[in-house]
Amino acid sequence: MEDTIFDKILRREIPAKIAYEDDHVLAFHDLHPQAPVHVLVIPKKKQPGIQAFSGASSEDIGAYMVAVAKVATHLGLDAAGYRVVFNQGKYGQQTVAYVHAHILGGRQMEWPPG
Ligand code: 5GP
Repeated sequence: MEDTIFDKILRREIPAKIAYEDDHVLAFHDLHPQAPVHVLVIPKKKQPGIQAFSGASSEDIGAYMVAVAKVATHLGLDAAGYRVVFNQGKYGQQTVAYVHAHILGGRQMEWPPG
């Protein structure tokens, strides 16, 4: 797997505004926020994208998803609600090949997405 900017953030080789960390995930604020709250959550066990979860263990995926919900709570978003986005591949406009959940909150979201 290619070394990405998120590998470097996880290794603390480049700075990021950390929002949350536990044994399973690291969460940090997006450099170009698309909402008042825009945090990225990566699993410490790397996968290149959500499509690779088809080969991951249910235990690892479960721990990741529980952590995503915990991060949203930690950010104070669960009462008003929020959106979780995974971009996958070219048509999904994924730009970093390290799976990451975008947690977007603090404003009313719209549908359909662009
Ligand atoms: P993707 O387009 O792959 O779903 O999302 C990648 C996200 O990473 C984008 O929202 C982009 O703003 C964010 N990003 C790219 N480089 C950096 C960086 O160096 N630091 C942080 N905190 N976010 C980044």
